Amino acid sequence: MAIKSDLHLHSNFSGDSDTPMEEMVQKAISLGLTHICFTEHYDPDYLYTEEEPGKYEINTDSYLYDLLKCKAKYQDQIKVLFGIELGLQPQIKRELAIYNRSHDFDFVIGSTHICNRKDPYYPSFFEGRSEDEAHQEYFEAVLESVKKLPYFDVYGHLDYVVRYGPTKNDKYTYQKHADVFDKILTSLLEQEKGIELNTAGFRYGLNQPNPCIDIIKRYKELGGEIITIGSDAHEPAHVGDCFDKAADILTECGFKYYTIFEGRSPEFVRI
Ligand SMILES: [Zn+2]
Ligand SMILES: [Zn+2]
Repeated sequence: MAIKSDLHLHSNFSGDSDTPMEEMVQKAISLGLTHICFTEHYDPDYLYTEEEPGKYEINTDSYLYDLLKCKAKYQDQIKVLFGIELGLQPQIKRELAIYNRSHDFDFVIGSTHICNRKDPYYPSFFEGRSEDEAHQEYFEAVLESVKKLPYFDVYGHLDYVVRYGPTKNDKYTYQKHADVFDKILTSLLEQEKGIELNTAGFRYGLNQPNPCIDIIKRYKELGGEIITIGSDAHEPAHVGDCFDKAADILTECGFKYYTIFEGRSPEFVRI
């Protein structure tokens, strides 16, 4: 594999994974990866169901404790980095700001999982309007988060919403939402923040990563250089998933480097 760093991994410290951290590390070593970053979910004020209250809260101290053990145990084989995937929502700005300052993360992904107090994961998000309108609402929420909640290094799976609509990405194009995408990308560039190429899109049958290739191309055209690669694996089988495709896409979009982070600083690695 041309790409040897997976910067978006979950373990059982995330509410939607049952995998012990060590199993993810061992899988990454077996694939020949040199760097991995756990980016467990921290999504305060998520729309919790009665069955699963607090599902995306995290005990960050015990997460760090286990991570440091894994990091030391496997230090001769792989570098294990300490990250978080922050669920961005404007009403929790203060909470996110405090949390971001309270921990020495290597890397922070900012993601929109909840959009205007609705969850795009469920069909109701798309009901009573066109799929394009639902997508547009999500992208405008992303723009608001990019501008108001600068507590992250890269924006995660920028067009995540297209995974869940009735026709997924069959009719979705960059051009339909070019205005809002350009505002998002320009604002990220002004703040020296990046995007990630999230390969889970392939697992959702999009035949594209998230975001789609045209957004990645546009980011590069506008001068973007900071792009991390993440599988968003929640189990060992998905670690490093589709990284060969990711390398081809980066090259096609004009990138010569991908990015890794340590201590919140980007480093550029030749593809
Ligand atoms: Zn996510
Ligand atoms: Zn994730």
